Amino acid sequence: MLQIGLTGGIGSGKTTIANIFSTLGIAIYDADSTAKNLMNTNQQIMRQLTELFGADTYKDGQLNRTYLSSKVFNNAPLLAQLNAITHPATIKDSIDWFARQQGPYAIKEAALIFESGSEKYLDYTIGVWAEKELRIKRVLQRGGGLDRAAIEARMEKQMEESEKMKRCNFVIDNNGRTSVIMQVYEIHQTLLNLANG
Ligand code: ATP
Repeated sequence: MLQIGLTGGIGSGKTTIANIFSTLGIAIYDADSTAKNLMNTNQQIMRQLTELFGADTYKDGQLNRTYLSSKVFNNAPLLAQLNAITHPATIKDSIDWFARQQGPYAIKEAALIFESGSEKYLDYTIGVWAEKELRIKRVLQRGGGLDRAAIEARMEKQMEESEKMKRCNFVIDNNGRTSVIMQVYEIHQTLLNLANG
């Protein structure tokens, strides 16, 4: 079974594209929500985070995300320490998940693939590409409390989109110019052929 990564910057359309693959019967691993879940359930991660960031890290047993974000947002060394705690556990979790899947291929959807080094165990990667202004517009429309400045600040922290797309084996253009369903279907066919050797 092929292990596939699906990535792209904030608002690029990862979840939208993952849903299309899902309708083709492909299993999807949502790395971002699993990572959040692990931070609330994995005892070792919880202990290490509390040691690093103090007792305020958890409030009523739930990760205090606002507190944690405020700590790491403009502190690259601390963010690296946070990642060193969470990335190995989330990578292991997704490797275990892939091992449980059946079918020709399965997809891990994650904002960070190259940044976390997880492309090492993926056979192929798919990038979702949309222009910056369109991504901002879509995230604003989606709601959720992020304003333009917050979205742009997040974009600046992520790997440059053109660099990310260069590293992907397949790129889906999600700028609204060409049908994403057709693009997904073509990649699906190619992956089926690759999976059948
Ligand atoms: P994030 O990294 O923030 O989780 P994402 O990459 O998973 O974002 P989506 O949530 O799939 O992106 O898309 C962002 C928003 O843009 C959503 O509200 C989605 O419905 C909308 N959107 C995505 N693709 C399109 C499209 N081709 N046409 C119109 N709206 C779209």
